[in-house]
Amino acid sequence: MLTVKGVLRMKKFRCQVCDYVYNPEVGDPESTVKPRTPFEDLPGSWRCPVCDVTIDEFDAEGADEPAPKGATRRYVRPGLTIIWQSALCNHNGNCTRSLPGVFDLERRPWVNVQGADVDDLKGVIDECPTGALSYRTDDGGASKK
Ligand code: SF4
Repeated sequence: MLTVKGVLRMKKFRCQVCDYVYNPEVGDPESTVKPRTPFEDLPGSWRCPVCDVTIDEFDAEGADEPAPKGATRRYVRPGLTIIWQSALCNHNGNCTRSLPGVFDLERRPWVNVQGADVDDLKGVIDECPTGALSYRTDDGGASKK
């Protein structure tokens, strides 16, 4: 019989960097983590299979919820990190209209950082009117806001 404690141990955990969700029912077959492995039982060396950050970057939550208010998300590709601060976003849609292949509210994660070339990404991010979107480049560059 599955106890309340057992149900709690089977919660999903979300990567705070790329929004990948670890589902204990599925495990992580590519890392030989078997189905029905609670997040708490993952080895400390386990890393996010999407963006390769450590296990410390994961938070428990209901899996398919949008980012909680006040959340900051980072989306990483070689040379560029996009940062999105949900509390600053007024949802005017400038980014989703300009680059729908990158910014799509119906998708998780909602930012496809590989969906355009770096200059196009930087241009649209610089046009974000509130500063909710910003970027850093590996060579020390940064967005205007
Ligand atoms: S452009 Fe900026 S403020 Fe507008 S929807 Fe995108 S992230 Fe939000």
